[in-house]
Amino acid sequence: MTERPDRQRLLRSIPKVDLLLEHPRVEALLGSYPRWLVVEAVRKLLDERRARILAGEAGPRLVDGESMVDELEERMEELASPSLRRVINATGVVLHTNLGRALLSREVWRQMEEVALNYSNLEYHLERGERGLRYVHVVDILKKVTGAPAAMVVNNNAAAVLLVLAALARGREVVVSRGELIEIGGSFRIPEVMAASGAVLREVGTTNKTHLGDYAEAINDDTALLLKVHPSNYRILGFTQSVPLKDLVALGREAGVPVYEDLGSGSLVDLRAYGLPHEPTVQESLKAGVSVLSFSGDKLLGGPQAGIVLGEEGIIERVRRHPLNRALRIDKLTLAGLEATLRLYMEPETLARRLPTMAFLATSLEVLKERACRVKGVLEERLPSSFSVRVIEDVSYVGGGALPLAEMPTAAVALIHAGLAASEIEERARRGYPPVIGRIKDEAFLLDMRTVREEDMGPMLDSLGRSLA
Ligand SMILES: *Cc1c(COP(=O)(O)O)cnc(C)c1O
Repeated sequence: MTERPDRQRLLRSIPKVDLLLEHPRVEALLGSYPRWLVVEAVRKLLDERRARILAGEAGPRLVDGESMVDELEERMEELASPSLRRVINATGVVLHTNLGRALLSREVWRQMEEVALNYSNLEYHLERGERGLRYVHVVDILKKVTGAPAAMVVNNNAAAVLLVLAALARGREVVVSRGELIEIGGSFRIPEVMAASGAVLREVGTTNKTHLGDYAEAINDDTALLLKVHPSNYRILGFTQSVPLKDLVALGREAGVPVYEDLGSGSLVDLRAYGLPHEPTVQESLKAGVSVLSFSGDKLLGGPQAGIVLGEEGIIERVRRHPLNRALRIDKLTLAGLEATLRLYMEPETLARRLPTMAFLATSLEVLKERACRVKGVLEERLPSSFSVRVIEDVSYVGGGALPLAEMPTAAVALIHAGLAASEIEERARRGYPPVIGRIKDEAFLLDMRTVREEDMGPMLDSLGRSLA
């Protein structure tokens, strides 16, 4: 019975909107944010406090003006930041699809900015003074870098697969090994893309073994294509067999059926130079004689999201002229970014310095360890002593469906707290400013240094200092 008057008293002590707006720190907020946004946030905060009191919560903190302003400052920062924002990738996964895949190089970004902020010759032939094709800006460099006879580009590799199938095999059969009927993240499944393109899937072989004879038997008058798909994010180990591309090409030639390879990540350089296992390159597939191939712009290539299609002139021409192409077309900023990225490949020896994806792959364990030690030192200073901070050696992955089993030795900082589960530390870091995304291993929260650049160090340490304090 004594509760009621208490509640009434608390409700009456909630400050009025106008009073809160006159608080010096709120006035400062009004200098940085639009007035309507601040007023809305103040109203919402006061409503929430009222609801909490009505729900039975008590205590003077609920109506304390200073604590309200603290909360308001935090909320304004959150409200004012865009939904799509920078995060710190401390997962060690270089091509993390959920975290935006490849980071662009600065030189590439400058070229995109130039095209974004000015008019350009996007579809204008400067010498002839007439309408041109947007693809020309990347076709020559693609041909030069890869040795392909012809090239074109679309929005992403999923679009490339759809378009190639629609242009070359609509209403006809496409032969694929059962071991390659893959699903990759974001609901891209070969059988479903095939159905959407209007091509008819002709499965051959088994999950673990497919022989050349299986393809040969499936070929008939209705066969439009032999398709080979990079298994990307999985491997079948043990008793397995697949048909090498060059054997498939020989079969296709004999039968007069073109061969299409969906390379997925599609590297232009031999990754053994970065201490990784051999991954067939785009050039190797072209040399093997494939009629057409496609791969992503933002996986191992290290550029913007795009789908690159290379192959024989006649085939590329059919793909380019298909009506779906207009719906899947590449945007001008992407085109500028792709051209600039490809130009870097003209000097492959500079890639580790100029292309972030390659820089991540090339960073030595010594450098990573040194970085981890620095992070440990700072965190020990800034975090409560109840945290245990250690440097450990672990492995990181390329990601993006490239080399799923290849492990790169790395150094990580492991955080453990007696009173907090690793999942709770992970959540706090993830909800910080900027968000720090790490991973959990053996009950510890890990910050993998492979994907944390020098320029990420300060923001990451500040964010963790605040979120874990
Ligand atoms: C990643 C991938 C795709 C899809 O490429 P996006 O550029 O993400 O559209 C298609 N096929 C394979 C084999 C892949 O690895």
